[in-house]
Amino acid sequence: MPDVVLETANGGHVALSTELVAGLRARLRGAVRLPGEPGYESCRTIWNAMIDRRPGLIVCPAGAADVIETVRLAREHGLLLAVKGAGHNIAGLAVRDRALMLDLSGMKSVRIDPAARTARVEPGVTLGEFDREAQAFGLATPLGINSTTGVAGLTLGGGFGWLSRKHGLTVDNLISADVVTADGTLVHASAKEHPDLFWAIRGGGGNFGVVTSFEFRLHPVGPEVLSGLVIHPLSSARELFPDYLRLVAEAPDELTCWVVLRKAPPLPFLAKEVHGTEVMVLAMCYVGDGEAGLKAVAPLRSLGRPIADVVGPHAFTTWQTAFDPLLTPGARNYWKSHDFTSLSGGAVQILLDNAGRLPSPECEIFVGQLGGAVNRVPVDATAYPHRNVEFVVNVHTRWSDAALDQTCVNWTRQLFDGLAPHATGGVYVNFMPEDETERIRGGAYGPCYARLARVKATYDPGNLFRLNHNIAPAA
Ligand SMILES: Cc1cc2nc3c(=O)[nH]c(=O)nc-3n(C[C@H](O)[C@H](O)[C@H](O)COP(=O)(O)OP(=O)(O)OC[C@H]3O[C@@H](n4cnc5c(N)ncnc54)[C@H](O)[C@@H]3O)c2cc1C
Repeated sequence: MPDVVLETANGGHVALSTELVAGLRARLRGAVRLPGEPGYESCRTIWNAMIDRRPGLIVCPAGAADVIETVRLAREHGLLLAVKGAGHNIAGLAVRDRALMLDLSGMKSVRIDPAARTARVEPGVTLGEFDREAQAFGLATPLGINSTTGVAGLTLGGGFGWLSRKHGLTVDNLISADVVTADGTLVHASAKEHPDLFWAIRGGGGNFGVVTSFEFRLHPVGPEVLSGLVIHPLSSARELFPDYLRLVAEAPDELTCWVVLRKAPPLPFLAKEVHGTEVMVLAMCYVGDGEAGLKAVAPLRSLGRPIADVVGPHAFTTWQTAFDPLLTPGARNYWKSHDFTSLSGGAVQILLDNAGRLPSPECEIFVGQLGGAVNRVPVDATAYPHRNVEFVVNVHTRWSDAALDQTCVNWTRQLFDGLAPHATGGVYVNFMPEDETERIRGGAYGPCYARLARVKATYDPGNLFRLNHNIAPAA
């Protein structure tokens, strides 16, 4: 067998001998996957089909010891190191040609302590897997809206979903983490131990080390939540939007209502003639008492003349998968996102005009509602600084045919540019595509950037963890 040639962090190449690779294989509890070997293709394949890259060697660790060994190998040989959780990130930085790739997706343990209301979660766990374990005890922590997303990447960027207005971001519920830092040692980061590192990993992404275990705080949730969709034709949206904005501004923390502008999928509760037409979807969830929930959602449900209303009690775990069929892996995707403190009439106009000319049937414009508990956390408490944001607009451009790549990317960019004057200039790091390096400092991190760069200089001065939305170590 020939040597394994890998790219180094400084753009050169290193050949790892067959003996070295065999020794690595023998020592690991997990697996090594080389190109052509079983498992290699599935490890390198991620959610966004725009990313088609071939790492030179993949390590699938079974535990922290394997991660430590891999980090030391990367450091010793100066290798370019890519780290994958569940492989959902739009930017695709979890995989790189000729890199050493650490694929954590097999590390799947979740342990719930129902009495303490805490969870220990390994970095390959998906949101659906975490919810499944926590809901066995009627518990949950705020996570995202698509169950196949990875807990690891979501947490490291901030993390928000249906529970966030009530219970905060995912990072606001992180109690501690085990982190393998660039020198190949494992440290426990919490408010008391390595507090700077603990601050940085709550929003700063994978810049500071490989997290091998997360500890979360849990809250009683469900087992059912009042949740569902109210669907209007897009032609009513201009009239409805001001009322939507007024009602959500008054909403209690328990209630979250997102707007989705898209073409109607062939949902069984929609008349056939509606399928494929543009709609405004109000997706809502009330986390609390059912009776109070019915009162809280009533004004939103009574807006206009909806073509469908499927709001009712649903198992929390079912609601957490409601958007999965529209967000399956394997499609081509390009996203761009803006934060807003309020949605002006001008911004709404741009959203609706573009919703009327989506470049493919799978595209959607998401208006995520934040505020509530998320915004009561001080800006400097974690490395997620966007604590004044009420709405996150995420343009989910999605298509299947590669011939549409340029059309779809161009459409996304012109919509993004049009919205820019109305937005804060901030952006949620987990919604940034790979080509947005110029937004990392000011847009993603703003007031947190200088401190993040100092923490980076302490824990990763050589920038071993550079395949991410990268924070350069402070000089
Ligand atoms: C369809 C879809 C829906 C989404 N919905 C939401 C939502 O509702 N709310 C929300 O907040 N976000 C949402 N996101 C964004 C999501 O939070 C990010 O894509 C997140 O990075 C996914 O994590 P992952 O582990 O699956 O990704 P990966 O691609 O595996 O990882 C992303 C990056 O994180 C780093 N990383 C991953 N694991 C580790 C680790 N253990 N240690 C160190 N670094 C690591 C690496 O730098 C890697 O490149 C959504 C994404 C998609 C595609």
